[in-house]
This record gives sequence, structure tokens and C-alpha cells, in this order.
Amino acid sequence: MATAIRPNVRSYQMYINGEWVDSASGKSFPVYDPSTEEVIAEVPDANAKDVDRAVQAAREAFDNGAWRSTTAQERGRVLFRLAERVRKEAAMLAELECRNTGKPIVEAEYDIADVATCFEYYGGLATKVVGYVNPVPDNALSLSMKEPVGVAGQIIPWNYPLLMAAWKLAPALAAGCTCVLKPAEQTPLTVLEMANWFADVGLPPGVVNIVTGFGETAGAPLVTHAGVDKVAFTGSAAVGKHIVKMAADTVKRVTLELGGKSPNIFFADADFEAAIDGALFGVFVNQGEVCSAGSRILVEKSIYSKFVEAMADKAKKIRLGPPLERETKMGPLVSKEQYERVRGYQEAGKKEAKLAAGGGRPASIGKGYYVEPTIFYDVKNSAKIAREEIFGPVAAVIPFQDEGEALKIANDTPYGLAAAVWTRDIFKAMRAVKALRAGIVWVNHMQPTYVEAPWGGYKQSGFGRELGPSGIEEYLETKQVHINLNEQPIGWYS
Ligand code: NAP
Ligand code: MG
Repeated sequence: MATAIRPNVRSYQMYINGEWVDSASGKSFPVYDPSTEEVIAEVPDANAKDVDRAVQAAREAFDNGAWRSTTAQERGRVLFRLAERVRKEAAMLAELECRNTGKPIVEAEYDIADVATCFEYYGGLATKVVGYVNPVPDNALSLSMKEPVGVAGQIIPWNYPLLMAAWKLAPALAAGCTCVLKPAEQTPLTVLEMANWFADVGLPPGVVNIVTGFGETAGAPLVTHAGVDKVAFTGSAAVGKHIVKMAADTVKRVTLELGGKSPNIFFADADFEAAIDGALFGVFVNQGEVCSAGSRILVEKSIYSKFVEAMADKAKKIRLGPPLERETKMGPLVSKEQYERVRGYQEAGKKEAKLAAGGGRPASIGKGYYVEPTIFYDVKNSAKIAREEIFGPVAAVIPFQDEGEALKIANDTPYGLAAAVWTRDIFKAMRAVKALRAGIVWVNHMQPTYVEAPWGGYKQSGFGRELGPSGIEEYLETKQVHINLNEQPIGWYS
């Protein structure tokens, strides 16, 4: 719930146990519009006390509360109603997401549509969770039953705020779990708006709690809390590693969706126009603030010069501007901190590679955390800009001689979230699909993401899968049930 405290600044409360509340400390923190650098909202600054309150509410709603005794059909219907509400209020949500993240309005509209689709998908899947009869050799009925894992602590990043919330909440709720979700400090607004409808659509108090705050003071207590059964985290690899260690003491189930340094591989026989488009879209969509960004662009030597030139030409024409304008193709980065990080990589790149486009902040724009779409070429795969996730619009173009070298470079990274390969040769494409160590491989495309298909990484990009049927599995436990059909005693000691 939000109230206006100054012109254009709204004060939000957070949502715990079905109530709108301030933080226990009474403190709040500002939320910005990165295109104007102005404060647009204040939200509660939660600490361990608030987290404890939220976890207790979720615990109660799970252990004794109404959610666990609902039928799968009822849970499905709740999710459908939530989806309907999201669709009805899509324009408001998209505008708020756009203002808070800086992403172009057209992209924000796609995100919100995907949010509704995600709730619909898991609304449908709620009634398709089934168990098994195990073919044991004795006179018994052996069952594998699926049950909700319990209270889920969910921590999400700022690049797709409401969509990441939906990826977490939808499968958890469909499975019968209750949730405490901590949005990223930079982007808590759309999920708070959505919480306005939770009671209306039939979510009992405590089933979903939204706790706003910072990673160290609100995220960490959620990960270590004994009342939380499972932690689902999307964010950086550095924080992900820390989460695993923190969750170890209470042996929590953990799923991690971390970063990437995904290769986008172009063979000489690929359709050239489609390839250039795919290279640009792969790395610059959402300002490059995408975990699966195709930030390493591997190009076969015979088309390399022409490719770099064509990419640079098009990149220079990408329209940067106010995110709310429909013609805008790239907005500002999400925050000052992220802007400075990406600027740092632009400068680092100039020392280790050649610059084909961008490299700084756009001269024509005064305020806002804008950076130019930037293309470095002749990049060595050992360079900093080819090793580290930048999470901004900075591409590293790397030449390769042949298929073997391309696949070797592609896999030479600690990450393994996604990869793409562009060729008209089906044999070459299939060899790449098999060789690439990544959780998602696209052929002749990059970035399409569907709620129906599993999403997640190999190697240091994390473990566990979101979306698709695998997404709900991560919120289920398997209970083995043995029903003895013999009426005689076991007889072992007789
Ligand atoms: P981040 O710094 O790792 O933060 C992610 C979330 O973790 C935030 O809510 C953050 O809180 C919280 N957090 C930070 N420190 C914590 C701690 N000690 N204990 C518990 N929680 C803590 O990442 P980000 O900068 O927001 O997002 C960018 C990263 O997310 C990129 O690396 C990107 O690749 C990854 N990502 C991955 C996927 C995927 O599906 N694989 C999708 C999107 C993003 P604060 O808000 O206070 O920082
Ligand atoms: Mg952070």
C-alpha cells in the first residue's frame, strides 16, 4: 500500500501476514528512477526482526494455516485470478517497472505479459502434480507422494523485477508452499503493487509475504532462518556462493540461478542479416542487464571484419532515450552503482581490446545512468571483459578459425547458463548443441524464453531449474509410503 509523501514520491509499506506494515526499526530507504536520478518512492528497510515476523507468518500458514489444506484446483484458481488481475493492470505495472528499472516501456510490457503467463502456467500445473506406485517385490503398496517443501525464502535481482517474482512465487504456490520474498533493493515497487491483490484473489494471510530491504540485513537472515525450508535465489555468482554456505548450517534446499558469460557463435554460413540482428539483440536487449546475455560474440574469421563493421554500424544507431518513449530501444542502467561498474568495464576494455562502437556515456543525454552500447573486438577470451559478467551493454567479439576452436572458446568459462549458435548446417548445429556446456542452447536465435521450458545453468551459473515442469519439482519433496498388505507378523524374532 502506498501513500504520496511528496509530489511524485510515494511511501510504501511491506506485506507481512496479510497486513501492510512498516519496518520494525521504523527506517525506510529511497527508490530511484534511473533515467532522472530522482527518488520516486520510499520503502521499509527490513531487518532480521521483520524477516522473523514474515517467516513466522509463512510457517503458520504452512503448518496450521489454510493454504496447505486447499486443493490443487483451488490453488490453481487463485493463480489464474492473480494472472487476470495482472493483465487488467498491465499498463500500470509496465509503466512502474519502466520507471523503476529504466528499461524501455515496450520491453516492460512484454515482461508484464510474461508475468501473467507464468501465473497461468503454474495455475494449470497445480493439478498435474502426480506421484507413483513403486513396483516393490513384497505384498505391499509402495507409493511416492509429492508434497510441498514448506516455507520458501526467495531472493531476486533487479533486472526483471516482477517477472523474477513470478518465476519464484508461481511454482511455489502451485506446489502448496508458502513464501517470503525479498525483492532487490533497487526495484521493490511492482511486487508491492501486486501484493495489493493477494487477499482479493484468495491468498490467505501469511501465504505470501514481501519483505523489502538489503541483502545483508534482510536477505541473509532469511537464508539462515531455521523456519525456512528452501531458499531460491537469483542473482550474482558471488552472492550465490555465499548463500550456499549460509544455508548449509540448517541444510536447506537451495536452488541458484546465477550469472553467465554466454557465447553467441556465428559461423560463416549463417544468414548474415539475421546474424547481425541476433548478435545485437543477444547482448543489448534490456540494456544488457540479462543473465543470459550473449556477451561473448564468437565469429568465424572469414566473415569477421565485415561482421564487426556491420554490428558497429547498427549499434551506433540504437536509439537511447527516456524509457517511457515508445521509440526508445535502450534506457539507462538500473542504478548509479551499476552505471559505475559498467563504465569501469568500458575503460578496462579499452586497455585490452579494440573499440568498434560506444565506449562511454552518450554525449547527447544529460541526466540518467545511460551508457552507450559498446562493442570491443579482437578480444582475447582470457581478457577481463571476456571472463567477467558485466551485466550491461558491452560486447566482446572474439574471432575463431574453425568449429573446434569455436566450441573450445565457448566452453572456456566458469559459467554455463546459455549459448547460441548460428549456422545453416544442421550437422554443425547439432554438434554444437551436444558440445556446449550450458543449460540453455539456442540455434539461430538468442534469448527467447518460455515458461513451458526449463531455465537454469551448468557449472557456476547455478543449479536447479525454474520454469516448465522442473520449476514446480524444486518446490516438492518426495515421500515414500509403504503400505503392508500382509496381515501376519514379520516373524523375524520368532
Ligand atoms: P546480487 O547483488 O547478487 O543480488 C541479488 C539479490 O540478492 C538481491 O535481492 C540482493 O539484495 C540479495 N543479496 C545480496 N547480498 C546478499 C546476502 N549477503 N544475503 C542474502 N541476499 C543477498 O545481484 P544483482 O546485482 O541484484 O543482479 C544481477 C545478477 O543476477 C547478475 O549476476 C545476473 O546474472 C544474475 N541474474 C541471474 C538470472 C538467472 O536466471 N540465472 C536472472 C537474473 C539475474 P540487494 O538488493 O540488497 O543487493
Ligand atoms: Mg545488489
